[in-house]
Amino acid sequence: MFSYRHAFHAGNHADVLKHMVLIATLDHMLEKETALTVVDTHAGAGLYRLDGDYAGTSGEAAEGVLRLVTDPKAPPAPAPAPATTAAAKKAAKEAEAPLADALARYLEVIHDFNAKGGARVYPGSPFIVQHLLRDHDRLKLFELHPTDSRTLTANIAQLEAGRQIAVLHEDGFGSATKFLPPPSRRALVLMDPSYELKTDYGRVLDFAAEALKRFATGTYAVWYPIIPRPEAHDLPRRLKTLATKAGKSSLNVTLTVKSSKITTAPSGETRRPGLPASGMFLINPPYTLKPLLEAALPQLVQKLGQDRNAGFTVEAAG
Ligand code: SAM
Repeated sequence: MFSYRHAFHAGNHADVLKHMVLIATLDHMLEKETALTVVDTHAGAGLYRLDGDYAGTSGEAAEGVLRLVTDPKAPPAPAPAPATTAAAKKAAKEAEAPLADALARYLEVIHDFNAKGGARVYPGSPFIVQHLLRDHDRLKLFELHPTDSRTLTANIAQLEAGRQIAVLHEDGFGSATKFLPPPSRRALVLMDPSYELKTDYGRVLDFAAEALKRFATGTYAVWYPIIPRPEAHDLPRRLKTLATKAGKSSLNVTLTVKSSKITTAPSGETRRPGLPASGMFLINPPYTLKPLLEAALPQLVQKLGQDRNAGFTVEAAG
């Protein structure tokens, strides 16, 4: 247990999807003046350096957020050659299209942490949420890894946010429901486990069921990997059943960037594709989210897709 460190993965395509959905959801929920409580059951370290040792080891941000921002040190791009084929013309037209609102907003938040451009600093969910919250809102952060919990505590301390933020070195699945319902009866709960343990899939479901029982009108967001594993395959289906049985609406959004096929190199070496796709499942999503994502996802596919298997789905129920 605990070999997972989010610093290796910060800013990858899964973070882009997760954080874009998180920001669009929060933007809507923060339109109401009543205080909002955000519970992040698996918070990570909070803030990451994309030019640091961890991120450099796997370079996952290179196939994620770094494809979306302009490197301030890069020389000006040469003028593109005129598009001749139909496919090249289509790609050129898509590249010129204005950014969809949800994607533009995500990049605006990333830019807020990188005033000089680029994305040397990548905000994890705790910093993204804190950046958007108002003084009277509350943020509860759970992180169980001893090192990440210490880093998170130190990172959060720099914000001098006082009582607004609580960092708990506790099992997010075990005790986060104690904050539900919050006094103002408005909450967003983000469940973003590493799925390092197969049991995480079942625990997400148990947690969501318990949370819905305690606070049926809360908004719940679950990130999950799309990998060839029965538990991963079943999770969105089981979450949908849970929401439907509770009479709640749901939204399931997925982003695929490449094929999940394991290939063999000419040398005979087996090549695993890494994470090819992921999804966000929301219970009680804001009604504004679906159209925002339907506009943004084709652009994400175009910018982050690595082969012809790239694609997206946005599916609402209830
Ligand atoms: N939500 C973060 C973000 O978007 O920036 C990333 C979180 S990362 C995918 C998952 C985190 O959960 C890891 O930092 C891991 O140490 C932590 N973790 C694993 N099991 C946990 C548990 N039972 N309770 C709380 N945190 C846990």
